[in-house]
Amino acid sequence: MGEIFVVVEHRQGEVREITHQMLWKANDLCEKHAHTLTAVLIGGKDEPFINDIAERADKVIAVEDDGLKDFNGDLYKEILYRLMQENHPLVLMIGHTPWGMDFGPALSVKTGFPIATDCVDILLENGRPKVIRQIYTGKIFSKVSMKESDGYLVTMRSGAFPADKVGDRKGEVIKKEMPADLPEAAKQFVAFEEAGAGAVDITQADLLVSIGRGVGEQDNVAVMQEFSEIIGGVLSCSRPVVDKNWLPKYHQVGTSGKSVKPKVYLAFGISGAFQHVAGITGAGCVIAVNKDKKAPIFRVADYGVVDDLFKIVEALKEKCSA
Ligand SMILES: Cc1cc2nc3c(=O)[nH]c(=O)nc-3n(C[C@H](O)[C@H](O)[C@H](O)COP(=O)(O)OP(=O)(O)OC[C@H]3O[C@@H](n4cnc5c(N)ncnc54)[C@H](O)[C@@H]3O)c2cc1C
Repeated sequence: MGEIFVVVEHRQGEVREITHQMLWKANDLCEKHAHTLTAVLIGGKDEPFINDIAERADKVIAVEDDGLKDFNGDLYKEILYRLMQENHPLVLMIGHTPWGMDFGPALSVKTGFPIATDCVDILLENGRPKVIRQIYTGKIFSKVSMKESDGYLVTMRSGAFPADKVGDRKGEVIKKEMPADLPEAAKQFVAFEEAGAGAVDITQADLLVSIGRGVGEQDNVAVMQEFSEIIGGVLSCSRPVVDKNWLPKYHQVGTSGKSVKPKVYLAFGISGAFQHVAGITGAGCVIAVNKDKKAPIFRVADYGVVDDLFKIVEALKEKCSA
């Protein structure tokens, strides 16, 4: 019987949804393979979500210190290294988030254990993990094995699993102090700044008309803005639209933009890269228009139209004015 470690990601006293998603998947693996599920919480003293985590794990190792309240990749790497040396987990699951991308590869170098990044699934075969990753902008799934090792590191993509509480666990909480002899961190936490809502708050909209690079040029943004007003929606977008300065950053949906939860999300000319799709997991109904029938957005769409977006927009405008 082995152990699966899940690194708890949290910010400003709140657990991040990626943690619940990883615990969901780890629970699935532990039930199938009789492994123990251990959540590793590195944070401040008595974090408010500790009981929630304990109800989703067999064990919680909480390394607590006021200096660990805010994320520091250097300290995470050192603490996780020591915990892995003491406990020998088979797999350490980390979120494929700015946190995980910071300390995950460094921890792999320090431990000498292989790492697979940005995984959308993980399974165990003959006691060893195999992971599923997407290649060619999500058009192909690849199954990847890692070299034989005493331990394995995986970073899991946000939105790959449900965040529901499953199993009937009441994990024992083992509190530990931060080791006194940690090397001084090269990085320092300075301050947490929440991105402003901007002139429009896409996180509060019930109907979002979201545009991607497929709109082609800046002038067409005005066409989509007009359409959005006609149907009573709010305009949002993918990252290239912001990178090209066609819309301000506060319109952007996705991992480096906002997470949205409209009742209806209309995606026009958006391919459906995971960084975008991770921002719409809370959307009610997703309707996508894309001229490429293999675009990954159709995997998450409730309804899809394979056509030129401007043809569809014109047709809808006509219907609305009829
Ligand atoms: C660290 C990091 C963070 C990121 N964060 C984000 C994020 O927060 N949000 C985000 O969106 N992206 C983010 N990205 C970028 C992401 O990887 C994709 O590059 C991006 O989402 C693609 O945007 P897109 O779908 O608009 O463009 P593309 O991938 O270029 O897709 C354009 C789509 O439009 C379709 N199309 C073209 N013309 C038409 C037409 N006339 N009618 C209909 N369909 C048409 C095409 O078939 C294509 O599918 C991030 C990337 C990195 C590395």
